[in-house]
Amino acid sequence: MTEAPNLAAILDREWSLLIGGRPAPARSGRRFGDESPVTEEIIATIPDGDAADVGAAVEAARPAAAAWRRVPPRERGALVGELARVLEENADELALLDAIDGGHPVTGMHLDVAIAADMLRLFAGLGIELKGSTIPATAQNLHLTVREPFGVVGRIIPFNHPVMFAAGKIAAPLVAGNAVILKPPESAPLSALRMGELFAGVLPPGVLSVVVGDGPAAGRGVARHPAIRRIGFIGSDATGRAIQRDAAEVGVKDVTLELGGKNALIAFPDADPEAVAAGAVAGMNFARSAGQSCGSTSRLLLHESIADDVLDRVVDRMSAIRIGSPLDPATQMGTVATRAQYDKTLRYIGIARDEGAQVVTGGGPPAGLADGPGLFVAPTLLRGVRPDMRIAREEVFGPVLAAITFTDEDEAIMIANGVDYGLTGSVWTSDIRRAHRVAFALDAGYLWINGSAAHFTGVPFGGVKRSGTGREESLGELLSYTQLKTLNIMLG
Ligand code: NAD
Repeated sequence: MTEAPNLAAILDREWSLLIGGRPAPARSGRRFGDESPVTEEIIATIPDGDAADVGAAVEAARPAAAAWRRVPPRERGALVGELARVLEENADELALLDAIDGGHPVTGMHLDVAIAADMLRLFAGLGIELKGSTIPATAQNLHLTVREPFGVVGRIIPFNHPVMFAAGKIAAPLVAGNAVILKPPESAPLSALRMGELFAGVLPPGVLSVVVGDGPAAGRGVARHPAIRRIGFIGSDATGRAIQRDAAEVGVKDVTLELGGKNALIAFPDADPEAVAAGAVAGMNFARSAGQSCGSTSRLLLHESIADDVLDRVVDRMSAIRIGSPLDPATQMGTVATRAQYDKTLRYIGIARDEGAQVVTGGGPPAGLADGPGLFVAPTLLRGVRPDMRIAREEVFGPVLAAITFTDEDEAIMIANGVDYGLTGSVWTSDIRRAHRVAFALDAGYLWINGSAAHFTGVPFGGVKRSGTGREESLGELLSYTQLKTLNIMLG
């Protein structure tokens, strides 16, 4: 058995970008302080990468991409499968880095590593699906399509699942034959930088680069680099639209966006109230990400006849969540990720109160954790929320659940669809006709019937409306990193 890594030892080191398969400082020489939401102290100084570093990464990636695309897809897949093994071998260290850097519980981050390894293996095995088709357009000629990689692609990711996204989101573009410039979140960059070092031992130099910087400069460098013609973004809708604008100013780019949500869980009177309560709490992703999850069902739409019963059970379950140091393996919910997230969450609770909502539980730092360091916010339940309140329409991206009551099915659908977002949705009923009727009526890209929160490897995930474009975690993601070429072989 390997010994558990020591936090002080894994932080006592120099941090570098990964460019052309080698550790690199920022071209500018600048560094920035990386603050832990757990200690509220600077735990590392990171190269402050910007567009110049993205440019250097692209220069290294271009020849690497030219060679990588000629490697047969199943051989590329074999190397990507090897990344899964390397990730798992280093799970303790990577999970600990995410715990101290992002405030996410270390036990939950082990699960994130496992999910990322699973995603790497999914795509590692799909290389042979990078196929085209033949089209019987004429009797005498051969018409066929082939799939080709873009070349150098950009992957920009957020802070809520740092290593899970860093590792899981490079799999599809790599197997499709692209070189990847990965831009991790500036508030939790450590696991991605460490992962880059580890993966450099497996991948040909330049096939993967990791560039981070303080603020938007590195991300904008990716969006605005003319040679990066395919960008996969995960983050807020405001940044997603900024990337579309930046990208459009320098070229014609293929940009997919996995953005935010204000997702509805709808429970009808014929649903089991205990199961609904369990689904509502699981759906918030309090555990692992302190509610900071795009798919969180942060609007709980309850039929008026079951609201009191379900909410009592929800409070019991929320009160039982073990909140504490993310470094403690027994902890289920840690801190929120940044001071900005902390302030935003408390601001939204205040706005909800001012608009007339009642705080049933939570509402601020949890008892016993208010005085020490650490950006803790208790799981918070609001009731008396009306659909027109800001708390019912805007994404908090924190541990805040807003309960809204409805009187009939049409009203529930109207409330659920009455927001700008459309990522996930959850319907609870024992009537299969109602389940289908409501699910088909909802504006959302990913739905559960009598379920919540879970993702399933290989099942397409993504949103509609302001929640984004494109689908990931599935064959479609792999194919989205290719472009179709048509050949007409004139035989007649
Ligand atoms: P964010 O948009 O602030 O940042 C995301 C990434 O974009 C970071 O790496 C950041 O440095 C970079 N960035 C910032 N400005 C940029 C710019 N102008 N150009 C290019 N890159 C730029 O998001 P966040 O606060 O890190 O994450 C929270 C958001 O992410 C929430 O809205 C959440 O719902 C969403 N999210 C969506 C999914 C999904 O799959 N749909 C998953 C997780 C998170």
